[in-house]
Order: sequence, then structure tokens, then C-alpha cells
Amino acid sequence: MKRRVFSGARPTGRQHLGNYLGAIQNYVSLQADYDCIYCIVDIHALTTLEDTSDLQSNIHEMMLDWLAIGLDPQKSILFVQSHVPEVMQLHTLLSMVTPLGWLLRVPTFKEKVKLQPHNVNYGLVGYPVLMTADIVLYKAEVVPVGEDQLPHLELAREIARRFNNLFGDTFPEPQAKLTSSPIVFGLDGKEKMSKQLGNDVELALSDEETIDRLMTAVTDPARRYRADPGHPEVCNIYRLHGYFNPEQLDDIANQCRSAKIGCVECKVLLAEKINSALGPFRERRAALAAKPQHVKEVLADGAQRAQAIARVTINEVKQKMGLI
Ligand code: SF4
Repeated sequence: MKRRVFSGARPTGRQHLGNYLGAIQNYVSLQADYDCIYCIVDIHALTTLEDTSDLQSNIHEMMLDWLAIGLDPQKSILFVQSHVPEVMQLHTLLSMVTPLGWLLRVPTFKEKVKLQPHNVNYGLVGYPVLMTADIVLYKAEVVPVGEDQLPHLELAREIARRFNNLFGDTFPEPQAKLTSSPIVFGLDGKEKMSKQLGNDVELALSDEETIDRLMTAVTDPARRYRADPGHPEVCNIYRLHGYFNPEQLDDIANQCRSAKIGCVECKVLLAEKINSALGPFRERRAALAAKPQHVKEVLADGAQRAQAIARVTINEVKQKMGLI
């Protein structure tokens, strides 16, 4: 039996280079060694979303990207969080064993309060409990996380441990699988690539759109004229060459420092490399997009398989809590 991995991601629509390099690439490779469950967490999105009109199209577009990149519904369970409502039951039950003080101390809760003071909703406080429910409902043993997410996973482990102490061994304490995935900066060269900040490059752009998008990227501010020598170490286009064009990296650094290459030329070269790396993905995506029913079928099948596991866990939890 392979160990079970769980990971969830918010429905952000079309995925960008940061999503790909930072998470999805890793999701694909984990499929070889683990029994993987990957979930689009639409309920989590409601804690910060006030307008849900794009929610369904975002789920559809995101799943098209996931499938075209190589998440395989034959190997992994791919589904939408709210399609398995048992997670909401487990969230309520786990909330009874989670001290409020634990939740109020979570740094991301404090950040969210600052970011949306007009909408400090109950779901925002309970976010880590729902996240724990996501993981332990499927008795996942392994959760791929970046170092910044370790405190969240530690809280999930504490909630699972507390439940086990009160009601008997039920949940495995999920272990972190630290990913070495990079933090990819956006076209502004300052912030992490993010759709919200508008500094992203979507994977599904056409070749021409990719070139146009990269042309808007901030480079070395010291290079005001073509003849000015550059500093590749401060330039995000150079960092992106590191992912898509590693064999020419030293050359580009030398040519930039000696002003033998201009930023426009350097961006066009990067766009060509990205377009060539993503060409097969874009073809698969177009073929999948032509069959809109396919995504629906994958998600329905994933929800059915996830729910079969979830029902067993919920029954066990209710029995142990004296509800049955
Ligand atoms: S030449 Fe390339 S690496 Fe140098 S500053 Fe311009 S875009 Fe960046």
C-alpha cells in the first residue's frame, strides 16, 4: 500500500508559472510514489471571496490546467472540496476539540484581519480546523508543504492529536513533506507571482501573448539604455531563465553585464524557451477544452471516490464521539 498524500489549492482559475513551478510540478511527480488526493478548496475560498460569480469557471479552468499538465485521474483522486460535504461535518466536530486560543494565535489569521477588516468572518478563524478536516477526513499521512506552511500543518497535527487523546486513536498525525519548490517572483520583480497582484504569466497563454506579457516585466532598473551594463542577479527575467533556459544562464549573465544583449532580446529568448517547454501542455489543454464534459466527469468520479473514504471516517468519528 502506498502512503496517502493530500493537498488542496484555492480555485484561482488559469494557473500561472508560479503555480506550476511552486506546486503543480511537484503534485505530478508525487503520483509515482504516493496515493494522491488533490482537491480544489472552494469552501476555503469563501473566507475571503465576496463575489462568487467566477467560482465555477475558475474551477473549470484550473482543472483543465491540472489535467493538461499531467495530474492523472487514473492515478490520483481529483475533486472539489464542497462536492464531499462530509468535510463540513468533520469541520464542525473538530471545532469542538479545538481551543479558540490556538486559532487566534495563527499568524495568517492576524494578517487576514489586517487585510480585510470589513470581513473578519467566523470562517476565517476556523480556517485551520477546516484545513485539518480536509487532511484527516482521508486519513492522509503526508502533506506536501513549503517551509512557510509548516506552522499550519503543526496545528493540524495538534488538533488530530487532541482528538485522538480524547476519543481514542482515529487519525494519523499528518507528516510534512517539505518541498524544495522555489518561490517564483512576478513580473514586477518584487512580489511572489500572484493573479491577485496582476504580476503573473498564465501557462495557457498563446506564444504571442507570452511574448507580450514578458515585455511588460521589470528588469534591472540600472539598465536605462541598451548600452548600460546590467546586473542579472537583481533581474527576475534572469531568474526565470534559470527555470526554463538553465543551459544558457552563464552566457546571459555575461552578455547582460557587458551590455551585449538588450532586455528586449533577453525577454524574447525567455518567451521562446517558455513557449517551447509549454507547447505540448498547451496542445493537450486545447484538446481537453474542446470536451467541456470531460472536466465534469473527472470531478464527479473524483468526488465519488473521495466520498467513499470520507463516509467511513465520519462514521468512525461519530461513533467515537458518542453520536451514534
Ligand atoms: S539583459 Fe536580461 S538579465 Fe539583463 S537586465 Fe535585461 S532582462 Fe535582465
